[in-house]
Parts: sequence; structure tokens; C-alpha cells
Amino acid sequence: MREELQALSADHLNRHLIPTADAHRPVLHRKGKRLVNFSSNNYLGLAGHPRMIQAMREAAEKGSGAGSSRLIIGHSEEAEALEQELAAFKGTESAVLFPNGYMANAGLLSSFLKPSDAVFSDQWNHASIVDGIRMSKARKYIYRHLDPDYLESLLKTADQQGAGRKLIVTDTVFSMDGDVAPLRDLVELKKRYDAALVVDDAHGGGVFGDEGKGMAHELGVDREIDLYMGTFSKAFGVYGAYVAGKRDWIRYLINKCRPFIYTTALPPVIIAGIRASLRLVRDADRLRRELRQKSGWFRRQLTGLGLDVAGSATQIIPVVVGENEQALLFSHRLQEQGVLSVAIRPPTVPAGTARLRFSLMANHREEDLRQAIEAIKLCCFA
Ligand SMILES: *Cc1c(COP(=O)(O)O)cnc(C)c1O
Repeated sequence: MREELQALSADHLNRHLIPTADAHRPVLHRKGKRLVNFSSNNYLGLAGHPRMIQAMREAAEKGSGAGSSRLIIGHSEEAEALEQELAAFKGTESAVLFPNGYMANAGLLSSFLKPSDAVFSDQWNHASIVDGIRMSKARKYIYRHLDPDYLESLLKTADQQGAGRKLIVTDTVFSMDGDVAPLRDLVELKKRYDAALVVDDAHGGGVFGDEGKGMAHELGVDREIDLYMGTFSKAFGVYGAYVAGKRDWIRYLINKCRPFIYTTALPPVIIAGIRASLRLVRDADRLRRELRQKSGWFRRQLTGLGLDVAGSATQIIPVVVGENEQALLFSHRLQEQGVLSVAIRPPTVPAGTARLRFSLMANHREEDLRQAIEAIKLCCFA
């Protein structure tokens, strides 16, 4: 272990935990320093909203833990109501809560996919999707990032190889690039090749679509998605996740999905927080508009400086640096200027593409954003 850890340090890949306060706010505090926060997924700034806190306080009066797993006695009236609200929100027959997005992805993929099935996965899908596929032992076909032609060639190959059922899975908004999956093309392909389409809307939910319904709604293909996964830990500002789709698919999960079955239900405080958050998100058109404007402005400033923001088209804006050491240095120098964007290194991103990942928030102040651009100029070009 010591050798492996030394090797990590030598490659500038060592990671450690840093206590941080106000992490959900546009300005956070770390090691006594005030830093403009560009590393939070609280995109709409809803975490800590007074109405959400109030709902959670009231729920806390009734107890702190769910007491058991869902299928024993851990399923409450409030969780039942929330699942119905979610199905109505997504326009699906049914929906089910999961403790978090990692477990939802790992669980749904490992329970739907059998070893004889074929799964088609974008090469930059989130680690929880990768792990779900590994757990399933299904035949995996990794397609080039955002490349429907490449995917089609793999679908053909799988058919020739006598694949069983076929399932395509993708992030909607890619977490480290801020680019968007070509959902319309994927829908075409899933129809042509008789495959199922599963989307992970972790970074699209709350931010895109009418009432924040997500990226598939934004792109007008929501009716064509077989299964949605989304989390409440990002734009929703709480914790937890859901899977939504046809009644039979959800029933299957409730019966078969081990990460759903063998874990304690979310505590009442979280359920109450999610329900309050869902109402706030539906009402948050102004925040979505502000987030979009600020993200657009910030992206234009960066590209204006000649920086590489990959294919970003959302509130996630990477600046790809390349080498790990350079990314760490860039992040460190920005912190000296009062700006925090944490360096993202392999294995989270491919080797040679270390980067700073700037996440915008609807409640970033204009002066915060200007300060960040000035700091970036200073660090890159001084
Ligand atoms: C954050 C994230 C997850 C995991 O969600 P949690 O609720 O934080 O466990 C899954 N998929 C993607 C794309 C994510 O960004």
C-alpha cells in the first residue's frame, strides 16, 4: 500500500480530505480563507433554502431514522407521496427512491442486465455507471464520447455476435465536461436496433427543461426514454436519488435490485427535504435563467482568453490543462487569488486531460464572477 501511495504522490495523483465550511454557498471557507466557490453542484443555490430547512426541521420532530429497509417497514406515507409526485413530475408511470445516485446506477444496471445482454456505454459515463456495468457482467461495448455513428457500428457488431437484449446508457450532461449527450440520435438508434435507453440526468435535472424536468424534456425526447435516473444531491440541494419509468420496470427493481433492497430507507428529514425541494425546483424559472446567463457569460470570457473549455454547453465549464501537476498549480494559484476550482485528475478524467472544473451557481454574484476571470487571467498569463 505504501508503495502504491508513493506512486500516486509521484504522479501528482495523491488525494486528501480538506475540511470546508459553507460548501453549498457561492463563497466558502477553507483553512480560514474566503474563496469564491466554483466546485459546488448546488447549481440553483437551493441548498439551505429556508422553506427546505423548515420542512426538514418539522420532519426531524418525528424522528431521525427510517428504522428499516424499504420492503420491511422503512417505506413511509411521505415516501409514497414523494414517489407519486416524482412520477407526475417526470411524466412516467412510476418512480422509486434510492439512497443516492451511485446506488441507483449500480443497482439498476446490475439488476436489469444479464451476462448474455449487451450494454452500450459512452466512454466518459460516470463511475457509478461503469461500476453497475461491471457488477452486471453483461457484454460491454464502450462507444466514443458523444459519437452516434460509433455507437451504431457497435450495435451492428453486437447483433452479429448474437447479443441478447440491448441497453444504451448515457449521462445527459457529462459531469466533467459539461457537454450534452445527443439524445435525439440515441433515440433514433435505440428504435432502429430495438434497444432500451437509460439516461443519468444527475446534472440536467432541475437545471434544464420546463419546471426543471431535465435534459430529455429540454430536447423534446422525454417520451422516448425507457428509464430515468436522477439525483437530489445537485441542483435539488438535498440528497437521495430516483429511478423513473414504466410500472413493470420499477416493480422489477423493487423485487430484484440488491442495492435497493438491502439498505435502510432514507431518513424522514431527507424525504421532507426532497419534497420541499421539488416544489422549489418547479418554481425556479428565474434561477434557471440566471444560471444560464451566468454560465454563458463565464464561458465566453474563458474562450475569449483562448482557453479550452472542451465542449461545454452547460453550467459545468472545464478548463482543460493537461498534466496533473499543472492543473494542481493552476488551482493553487487561483486559491491565492481567493477563487476555488478544485483540480480534477485521473482516474476521474482521462490521463493527460487534467483540468479545473468550474461549476456555476445561479446565485454567484457578478463581482464573484469578475473576480474569478481576473484571477484566471493573472494565473494563466502573468
Ligand atoms: C453525482 C453523480 C452521480 C451520483 O449521485 P449521488 O447522488 O451523488 O450518489 C451519478 N451520476 C452522475 C453523472 C453524477 O454526476
